Amino acid sequence: MLLDAAILDRDDPLALARERFELPDGVVYLDGNSLGPLLRGVRERVRRTLDVEWGRDLIRSWNVHRWIDLPRTVAAKIAPIVGAGADEVLVADSTSIDLFKLLAAGLELRPGRRTILASSDGFPSDLYVAGGLASLRGDARLSVVPREGIAAALDDDVAVLCLSHVDFRTGALLDLPALTAAAHAAGALACWDLSHSAGVVPVDLDGDGVDLAVGCGYKFLNGGPGAPAWLFVARRHQEAARSPLAGWLGHAAPFAFEPGYRPAPGIDRFLCGTPPILSLAALDAALDAYAGIDLSAVRRKSIALGDRFISRVRAFALPFEIASPLEGPRRGSQVSLRHPDGYSIVQALAERGVIADFREPDVLRFGLAPLYLRFADVDAAVAALSAVVAMAEHGAERHHVRAAVT
Ligand SMILES: *Cc1c(COP(=O)(O)O)cnc(C)c1O
Repeated sequence: MLLDAAILDRDDPLALARERFELPDGVVYLDGNSLGPLLRGVRERVRRTLDVEWGRDLIRSWNVHRWIDLPRTVAAKIAPIVGAGADEVLVADSTSIDLFKLLAAGLELRPGRRTILASSDGFPSDLYVAGGLASLRGDARLSVVPREGIAAALDDDVAVLCLSHVDFRTGALLDLPALTAAAHAAGALACWDLSHSAGVVPVDLDGDGVDLAVGCGYKFLNGGPGAPAWLFVARRHQEAARSPLAGWLGHAAPFAFEPGYRPAPGIDRFLCGTPPILSLAALDAALDAYAGIDLSAVRRKSIALGDRFISRVRAFALPFEIASPLEGPRRGSQVSLRHPDGYSIVQALAERGVIADFREPDVLRFGLAPLYLRFADVDAAVAALSAVVAMAEHGAERHHVRAAVT
């Protein structure tokens, strides 16, 4: 028998964190793995950035309000969330662009090796970026193998092993410490995409010896639509690592306007152009959601929410295949179900106020963000799912029209 959700919510050590968010009434939001919700502090901060900083102080704000430092000061808030030093993380550009920069740097850090090795179930954009980089360089190549084949494919031509920590379809969590060690044993670097784990799965980039990493700002870090991404370069690689996008803000002296490029010391060389201040301000304020939060408590609650979701789906005997690992420690912070009518079921659920998303070909994804979800929300979501399939609500014509973004 499952405990009453009201008891679990009453005893939840993270219950108060929900107050930091502006969640619309009548909505159970299970898509924080795609776009985190708005925080109260973000609304205030962006308003101040508009009214006081841009509106009144104009260009002086680069110095007076330290806009120029935001890529580093925001990164310093992300560093402890991923087990890195503040001097090893930088907020810049998007995840896709940051991955391009890091993979290019990684290839150069392993001269004589030509291969970027990736998993076939990796995030497609990551594979596209790696493939594009390989063809641009001419002498490099992308090798894509099934996840189980990675260890065998780690030969002496692999410069960088590039993996997502969480499988975006199934939510399966990869063994970051073991795969990083395997890459190192083969003489390769390990580059991790933490887009679906930073903020919900404790990560120890330094402790596990990770070389390079990237992650999204707008998913579980709640930075807002199109928030800039973050990148990590281990301290030991920073003086030798070079960004292929040698823009002026990565120069040692941007305002000297020298004709030649000299990379800035440390992680700053991975900056390229002018940072998006409104988006950085939003992300900066959003990261305050993590102030004073114990990430191991976040992980415990994430697993408990997922376990409960799966138990409820089973208790209702719902006609879904459970695509996620059943053991909590092997999942990220989502539960995925498979159903041939997955797309239309997700649409019908949204009409009932339960927001999830759909991934081709048949995956319904339910993101579980422990900072604002309650156990009662999980119960409500599965009850809505049960009602949708019991009444075949997804059969309605309007639920079959594909939108541009799923
Ligand atoms: C969401 C996500 C991205 C997104 O990249 P953008 O450049 O922000 O569009 C990249 N990688 C993974 C694994 C993701 O989940």
